[in-house]
Amino acid sequence: MANSDKSSGNQTDFKLIADSQWRERLTAEEYHVLREAGTERPFVGKYTDTETEGVYSCKACGTELFRSTEKFHSHCGWPSFFSPLAGDKIIEREDRSLGQVRTEVLCANCESHLGHVFAGEGYDTPTDLRYCINSICLELEEKPVED
Ligand SMILES: [Zn+2]
Repeated sequence: MANSDKSSGNQTDFKLIADSQWRERLTAEEYHVLREAGTERPFVGKYTDTETEGVYSCKACGTELFRSTEKFHSHCGWPSFFSPLAGDKIIEREDRSLGQVRTEVLCANCESHLGHVFAGEGYDTPTDLRYCINSICLELEEKPVED
């Protein structure tokens, strides 16, 4: 009988984390990009040209989002992936800021901003999509990736 209420127990619901808590969990730069939909400067992110095999997780909540096998060199200045690890790992929504229509990419688990996705640019990839993600939103874990 003692175990009856432990079923959905210990996992943090990242959607319920208060703004003040996010500020404690993240650095000022991480907070700006992840929680205020900022953008890091191009060509300075630590994963822009990384080819290391592994899985990229959300910096805010740790959910695995992208794999090195879907990363490609777009020369745009930010890490670029042609597909997320799985479609339900991310949220895509319309972003009309800056006077243009873009598609914002967010982590489905914690709703933090990751970057944008662009379609039909002519890259030689299986999807012709470019998930343009801020390095600061990601944490790479080096490990073998199965295709
Ligand atoms: Zn997340």
